[in-house]
Amino acid sequence: MKKISIRMRLTLLSVLLLTVCCTGLTIILNFSANRMADVLEAVPLTPAKEVSEKAEELSFPLIPIDSSKTSQAARNQFQYQSIFYMAVVIVVGGGLTYYLTGTSLKPLQILSSQMKNRTVHNLSDELKVPESADEIADLTISFNQMSKKLDEAFVMQRQFSQNAAHELRTPLAVLKTKVDVFKKKQEHTKEEYDKLLSVLTAHTDRLSELVKELLDLTNMDEISCEEHIELKQLVLDVVKELEPFSIKKKIDILVEGEKTSVLGNRNLLHRVFYNLVENAIKYNIEKGAVKIFVLEEGQQGLVVIEDTGIGIPDEMKSLIFQPFFRVDKSRSRQMGGAGLGLAIVKAIIEKHYGQINVLPNPEGGTIFRVLV
Ligand code: ADP
Repeated sequence: MKKISIRMRLTLLSVLLLTVCCTGLTIILNFSANRMADVLEAVPLTPAKEVSEKAEELSFPLIPIDSSKTSQAARNQFQYQSIFYMAVVIVVGGGLTYYLTGTSLKPLQILSSQMKNRTVHNLSDELKVPESADEIADLTISFNQMSKKLDEAFVMQRQFSQNAAHELRTPLAVLKTKVDVFKKKQEHTKEEYDKLLSVLTAHTDRLSELVKELLDLTNMDEISCEEHIELKQLVLDVVKELEPFSIKKKIDILVEGEKTSVLGNRNLLHRVFYNLVENAIKYNIEKGAVKIFVLEEGQQGLVVIEDTGIGIPDEMKSLIFQPFFRVDKSRSRQMGGAGLGLAIVKAIIEKHYGQINVLPNPEGGTIFRVLV
């Protein structure tokens, strides 16, 4: 039954239903007709003498008599005819069901053939939604929505691969040029060796950091988030670790708020706040400030990180969480960033069922709001 088409399945079901109903009806009809014929053929028994004064109240019993040949033939004919018409009704009913289901399922067939023609290259083309407001129109709308999401995912994936390849190619190209130039000369001083080695080390470090970040971004599924974490303490630890950078840039960091306990993964959350505070220092002005507030919000923890830095233009606030996105490419690259930091932060926050967004700040600078 599983391999039969819906059209054939509906036809077989209706034939089965018709057969059951018609057979029942034919049996009842034949039974009633036979009884009626019996009654018509029976003769009343007349009493030989008066029984009593109340004789008129007495009914005379009917005596069945053997049916005659003509009557028997009529009964048989009725039987054959009823069976014949029953078969006709079943066959015609089955045929009609086959035809009607075929017509009703036609739009589904058209939709199915259009779906078969879908490839990675035409995912953004929308299928025409039938004007009937039925299930097929619903199905077409759902298919169009799914197709659009798939197209967006493909575009993002393609962009991600292109960006990753570009990021990996840049340090590799620098390495190759340096080595080629080095090879051209026969004799080298110790300083030249040291210089080449330090360039090689810096670029291979950058490459391995990039590969590690790319792996982190895709390998977050199996990490558990069940540890009890004191959020304010975690932020204080991060600030302490980043002290050498903040001192170097003469940036004041203030942490305020209350003890806030959350469930999560310590290493991942450490990474979130390390990234955000590091950015708040990195994109800040000399002698700037960073203020961090840690609060409880319902069952979750709320951390607000505010800096007095260069800020993020409004139209770019939604883009900064995309992998490899940098507001000022050359400036960020000079600072060693590949634009993966905030993408990783967002992935971690989503893994903790939290939220991260950039709040408007008319005074300049950037405010990140993290709910975790
Ligand atoms: P990067 O490694 O380049 O810092 P991120 O993903 O951490 O990458 O940040 C993406 C971009 O968002 C940065 O290149 C920078 O332009 C911008 N950005 C992030 N944080 C801040 C901030 N606190 N102030 C200003 N710009 C920021």
